[in-house]
Amino acid sequence: MPVQVSVPELADELKVVPGQVEAVLQDFGVASEHGVLDIDDDALEMLRQAITEAAGAKQIRLLPGRTPREIATAIGVADNDVLKALMTKLKVMATLTTTLENDVSEKLAKQFGYDVLWGEAAPAPAAVEEPVSPSKGVIRPPVVTILGHVDHGKTSLLDFIRKTNVVDKEHGGITQHIGAYQVELKGGTITFLDTPGHAAFTAMRARGAAVTDIAILVIAADDGIMPQTIEAISHVKSADVPIIVAINKCDRPEANPDRVMQQLTEHELIPEAYGGQVITANVSAMTGDGIDHLLEMILLQAEVLELKAEPKGELAGVVIEAQLDKGRGPVATVLIQNGTLRRGDIIVLGDSTGKVRAMTDHQGVQIKEALPAMPVEVLGLDRVPKPGDKLEQMQTEKAGRAIAKQRLHVQQVAANVGPVRKVSLRDIANLGKPTEITSLRLIVKSDVQGSVEAVKGVLDKLNQDEVDVKILHSGVGSITENDILLAGASGAICVGFNVKPVPKAKSEAERQHVEIRTYKIIYELVEDIEAAMKGLLKPKFEDQYIGTVEIRAVYKLTKAGVVAGCHVTDGKVIRGAICKVTRGDETVHKGTIESLRNVKQDAKEMVAGQDCGVRFVDWADFKQGDVIEAFERVQVG
Ligand code: GDP
Repeated sequence: MPVQVSVPELADELKVVPGQVEAVLQDFGVASEHGVLDIDDDALEMLRQAITEAAGAKQIRLLPGRTPREIATAIGVADNDVLKALMTKLKVMATLTTTLENDVSEKLAKQFGYDVLWGEAAPAPAAVEEPVSPSKGVIRPPVVTILGHVDHGKTSLLDFIRKTNVVDKEHGGITQHIGAYQVELKGGTITFLDTPGHAAFTAMRARGAAVTDIAILVIAADDGIMPQTIEAISHVKSADVPIIVAINKCDRPEANPDRVMQQLTEHELIPEAYGGQVITANVSAMTGDGIDHLLEMILLQAEVLELKAEPKGELAGVVIEAQLDKGRGPVATVLIQNGTLRRGDIIVLGDSTGKVRAMTDHQGVQIKEALPAMPVEVLGLDRVPKPGDKLEQMQTEKAGRAIAKQRLHVQQVAANVGPVRKVSLRDIANLGKPTEITSLRLIVKSDVQGSVEAVKGVLDKLNQDEVDVKILHSGVGSITENDILLAGASGAICVGFNVKPVPKAKSEAERQHVEIRTYKIIYELVEDIEAAMKGLLKPKFEDQYIGTVEIRAVYKLTKAGVVAGCHVTDGKVIRGAICKVTRGDETVHKGTIESLRNVKQDAKEMVAGQDCGVRFVDWADFKQGDVIEAFERVQVG
């Protein structure tokens, strides 16, 4: 049974402060946008328990750089008590709105018996993406993803590498597509993820699973850098993953690898041949020329990265793909990141759990254990996990079931109240002191390349001492689902000039709480950003159409002045509405509706089919037959 409960009610009931309720909600990845939760009974009970437990530990969750007033609110004590403790006990002189050093905030909270759990101001990708590989341990194979423009040869390259380097181990060994495969070379092993493209890459990243160590950017030598190549570059750069460029289709007569290298420099990827750091390899996925060299380069890059894992350490992994198999039940391909997965291990993958009944490698060979960077297909789970879900080991099946069940509940709670809100321009404005903000990340889409360049130019000129404005990706065309994925994974805002989001992008943005701002004039964006940086962002309004009214008579009244006798033909009209009056094809007036009268009564609103008297602010020059379109001013940003 779904119930509604507010954060203060819950705090009151459990005798804790609202900050503690919020802290637990944050832990669960649940936001209470307006302080109200809409959840089912079971989930509420679970929340109650978690809050009570957390209250015993007396912890508050704070964002860095808080003021005494914010700390007082979080703990639930009077502002003055906090200020008094600050000045008398800690000898720190401050006002209620002074930004405190984090260690001072901790000491201050301690005065009231609370420990501080530090949260993050924005979903910084670094925190989500922390690789599992520890600095100690043994060298493990690199995990590689192939990206690039459609038809440039990603699939052909993956197929060629697989065909020529994966030998059947046993007679029963069938090469099968399980979402990833490994090649064993003289110089080492490489793990390839089999789903090429940046959508999959960023979708995993958005789920907190940074599995790719090296990205191979495939560019066809006859075609050069294309829009999706640029998108891929942006996605990989924002994930901070090293790029190796495979210049493909070099067998073609019209191939021009030099031109590709030249183009790369325009995207801040300077090839080694030009004195830069980016490794390039000329290849042909058709003839196989250059592919050995490419593989060597991957191993070389991996060596530089010193990728390590501990086979004897704690088990960690990520689901690459999963499905329900008719005969075998839920089947998941898991990439092991640390530790060793063994048959019989009890595991949890997101909200699914089970004992590993069987494991096969990418050749369909049954194996007993899987080491770091190995992709394996796992059987024995109770439900189908999702790509990006993390693998954890459990001691008992009971514990596995309890965790999986709890996660399912949390998902239900999250589904009811929506995910944690991502960064918005307004958040940045509301943060107050600009010193609290480190960077504003943008994705800029536009109808012409010129305006993208113009935005870059203007942003460069802004004073970026306080806020680092970064354009993660820019391009020509509508705002797409991929843009939203990138924004979601990197805590960025999507900006459109004379372009709109495609419907799928819009719904994805709502789901992920990514802010989209569209503009027709570049300087309006720049103004907004400047204002946000100064903490002065003004609300953005848009006039939205609400209805149409026809003037059917003009009355000259002694007391009330000139009144238009009207009939509402569509939608509605409201007192104070913005209006545009047309006579034939000509607009004769733009202004505001001062009052509406229904017979003899003042009215706030009249709807289609009703007659009413209308007066305008400072205008009475209307005629019978004029048409009034009414608009409502709505805040959109
Ligand atoms: P993807 O969309 O990036 O996965 O591209 P595909 O691998 O599907 O390749 C697109 C087309 O280019 C196919 O018709 C391939 O046969 C062809 N192709 C791929 N690599 C090469 C190459 O190195 N040389 C030539 N001549 N054709 C290639």
